[in-house]
Amino acid sequence: MEYKNFINGKWVGSKNKEKFENRNPANWDELIGVFPKSGAEDVDDAVAAAEEAFKKWRLVPAPKRGEILFRTGELLRKHKEEISRDMTREMGKIIQETRGDTQEGIDTAYYAAGEGRRLFGETTPAELPNKFAMSIRQPIGVCGIISPWNFPMAIPTWKIFPALLCGNTVVFKPASDTPLTAVRLVEILAEAGLPAGVVNLVHGTGSGVGTPLVEHPRVRLISFTGSSDVGKQIAASGGKTLKRISLELGGKNAQIVMDDADLKLAVEGALWGAFGTTGQRCTATSRLILHEKIKDDFLSMFLERVEGLKLGNGLDSRTDVGPLVNKAQREQIQSYVDIGLGEGAKLVAGGKAYEEGECQKGWFYEPTVFDGVEPDMRIAQEEIFGPVLSVLKAGSLSEAIAILNNSDYGLSSSIYTSDVNTAHVAMRDIEAGITYINGPTIGAEVHLPFGGVKDTGNGHRESGTAVLDVFTEWKSIYVDYSGRLQKAQIDAVTIE
Ligand code: NAD
Repeated sequence: MEYKNFINGKWVGSKNKEKFENRNPANWDELIGVFPKSGAEDVDDAVAAAEEAFKKWRLVPAPKRGEILFRTGELLRKHKEEISRDMTREMGKIIQETRGDTQEGIDTAYYAAGEGRRLFGETTPAELPNKFAMSIRQPIGVCGIISPWNFPMAIPTWKIFPALLCGNTVVFKPASDTPLTAVRLVEILAEAGLPAGVVNLVHGTGSGVGTPLVEHPRVRLISFTGSSDVGKQIAASGGKTLKRISLELGGKNAQIVMDDADLKLAVEGALWGAFGTTGQRCTATSRLILHEKIKDDFLSMFLERVEGLKLGNGLDSRTDVGPLVNKAQREQIQSYVDIGLGEGAKLVAGGKAYEEGECQKGWFYEPTVFDGVEPDMRIAQEEIFGPVLSVLKAGSLSEAIAILNNSDYGLSSSIYTSDVNTAHVAMRDIEAGITYINGPTIGAEVHLPFGGVKDTGNGHRESGTAVLDVFTEWKSIYVDYSGRLQKAQIDAVTIE
């Protein structure tokens, strides 16, 4: 029950000997484990180990690095069920979803492994004779990885696997609500054959571990997924040492349902998008924009389904919606429900903590729907990160897209329509990193770029080949085999 940091290939306690508890959000009497509440000295040790390991790891051929990641994928597959069960115990989402979270790690491992035999640069003609030109990708050095709790396996693997494949070494600081999944991942990487120091794990809080990692002068890159507020702080403080900073931040995602949509399908999508992971996904549907012609019909079908959702422990296969991750999260949800009521929105489902039966000892909250929401209300603008859906009305496609785009965020988006022309206008005009046609706002696959526009990030993308641009530096190489000084842009090449 007592877990440690992993530094230079060894499990070690924190220097300050402080600890924190991790409890099951579905039943706070259940202690999951005790973890080190580390500090700056532990970060220093981890960075030193990663820096030393980088000297050798960068020289391991990428296909060999890929083989270790392939073995990591095999081990994740072997342990998928126990990892997923532990994940449900530590952060609450239902077992079907934690299996999906682990599967995303497996997919990412296999994808990264394959990339070991590509990692393409370019060769291109030189402008001068007897000269060869090419570009290659090179690793950056020690990467600080800071992750949230809502995808405890998928998000760390989106970052760590490509970082390693590209030849970097890693100091990993997981969210303090999900330290156990981080331990499982690092155990598996070690078992797969990763040399000591290549991945280091340091548990603790944002201020205790995250801040020293971001400020560390020998950490060359920070890859962060979390809230926009923390992302902005990281961009400012990390910028002082001119680190590369990749930020994946919040969202206020919307699903549009047009009057020509398959309503049954759109109801399924909205239900999964809004209340999957108890609404605690960066890509969760938190706004539903309904065409006025179908609004009443859609809403009555939808609310009937919302009423039928079963709350409970995520390990029970009958459960549809698990608890929120912690007390602060539930308080935040309640405060937004109060804000929505104060703004004059109409509560048509949920609206309070759920404390029936076995749920008394967990952070459960009823799936909540507000109708009559206006585009500028706070509940239509701010990320709530819980099971609260705001319903808005639009009279046309252009109005629906304008409402969708009226947001500081731009992560995911969705439109249900049977008209191919409508779909193409939406693909072109929606301001978001991801658009789904006839699918909910959630459902990303690991071989396409993942990320968003506006306040959702700072222009980087994870997954696919786009993530390689985060974790490598480009080097351009010119080989002059003419045996004389040739001056680019100056020496003229004459054609006879
Ligand atoms: P958070 O910002 O509170 O914390 C994220 C991580 O940062 C945690 O590990 C935390 O300990 C650490 N941290 C906190 N303060 C820090 C600081 N000052 N310096 C360095 N590290 C610090 O977010 P959260 O509550 O864990 O996750 C929810 C948020 O994450 C939501 O806003 C959600 O939209 C976002 N998210 C985004 C994506 C995406 O890909 N765009 C995916 C999942 C979650």
